[in-house]
Amino acid sequence: MQEEPATRKVTASRDDDAAGQQDHHMAGRPPISMVEQAQKRKDGELWGSHCQACKYDQISPMLRCPKCASKDVVSRQFATTGQVVSYTIQTVAPEQYMNEVPYAFAIIQLDDGPRVSGWIGFINRPSDLPKGQKVAFVSSYKPGMQFEKA
Ligand SMILES: [Zn+2]
Repeated sequence: MQEEPATRKVTASRDDDAAGQQDHHMAGRPPISMVEQAQKRKDGELWGSHCQACKYDQISPMLRCPKCASKDVVSRQFATTGQVVSYTIQTVAPEQYMNEVPYAFAIIQLDDGPRVSGWIGFINRPSDLPKGQKVAFVSSYKPGMQFEKA
C-alpha cells in the first residue's frame, strides 16, 4: 500500500505561553474559548478576539494581543462573508470531506474580520475559484470552517 506523503508538521512558535508566564495576572481565560466559538459556528456566527488598543482581530483565542501586547482583549463577532485570497486544491480528503472532493483549502479575508482558513467543496480547477471570489461561511457539522461561493 502506497503511503501519502507526510503532512508538514507545524510547530507552534507563538510565545503566548511565555508571555503568560511573565505576567502572573495572565492566568485567566481568553474572552471567548474555542468551545464557545464552535457553538457560535453551529449558530452560523463567526466570533473571535479583538484588541481594543490597536483593533487587531484574531480568530484564535488570545489573552494578550500579539501585535501590541495589550491585555485589553474582548470577544467580537466577525462578518461571515469574505473574499478568497489564496488556496490550494486538495484531491485527497480526510474521511470527513470524502463527499466534497476535490475541495479548496483557502485563506479567506473576512469582510469585517481577520484572515481565516477554511475549505470550499467541489473545486476542480483554478477557474472554479478565481482569486477575490466572494464566499460565505456555511454552518456545518464538519470540522474546520466551511465556505461556499456567494
Ligand atoms: Zn493590539
